Amino acid sequence: MGRREELAANLAAVRERIAAACGAAGRDPADVTLIAVTKTWPASDVEHLAALGVRDLGENRDGEAAEKAAALSAAGVTDLRWHFVGQVQTNKARSVARYADVVHSVDRLRLVRALSTAATEAGRELDALIQVDLSPAAEGPQAGPKEGAPGGRGGAAPAEVVALADAVAAAPGLRLRGVMAVAPLGAPPGPAFDRLAAVAADLRGAHPEARWISAGMSGDLEVAVGAGATHVRVGSGLLGNRPLRP
Ligand SMILES: *Cc1c(COP(=O)(O)O)cnc(C)c1O
Repeated sequence: MGRREELAANLAAVRERIAAACGAAGRDPADVTLIAVTKTWPASDVEHLAALGVRDLGENRDGEAAEKAAALSAAGVTDLRWHFVGQVQTNKARSVARYADVVHSVDRLRLVRALSTAATEAGRELDALIQVDLSPAAEGPQAGPKEGAPGGRGGAAPAEVVALADAVAAAPGLRLRGVMAVAPLGAPPGPAFDRLAAVAADLRGAHPEARWISAGMSGDLEVAVGAGATHVRVGSGLLGNRPLRP
């Protein structure tokens, strides 16, 4: 089986899982966007996925994402939406703003300012999601992300989300769309995604237009769809186990 056929089979299986989860939750599969997380995989895989009808791609490293976006556009594939799902260092905001359509990982005021400036300079509008830290530690008073925390999963404490969203909504070049989260390691995802749904509901109280909930990966997409995810980010379930990075 060639790579195209392998990806086609994986894609069908993932779409099937999303449809089944939507069926169980009484939701319309058209309300759940599948983002193919292509990090570590070559641009040729993105071309295959695009030919198979995938329009939403996710990446988590700036250099790799910039290269792939450029390769696809050089190949004439221009109707893609690039989702940046990794932590954004402030000094990478200018680069990310050139190719990303959606940034899922807005988690601090400094980054709001950097992305807003960068998007404005690039003459672009970026969709922005507030990344929420769902770990128990984030519920405490000292919670909050640290700039470029190595290995950290990032995210703003739930209590900070509305204030950050206010800043995004007021920032030129950014469009507030909703929230994103990664389920904490070593805990069942259900309670975490329910917490995210509650944070999202609070956010909609202040910003009714912020309706996106980006949650769920290969291992827990059903749980996320059951909790209301509008966007699932699937890597290994589509592309296979990631090759180790050099
Ligand atoms: C890698 C990654 C994914 C995809 O994870 P899989 O388990 O391979 O599906 C989703 N979201 C983020 C933020 C990621 O970094």
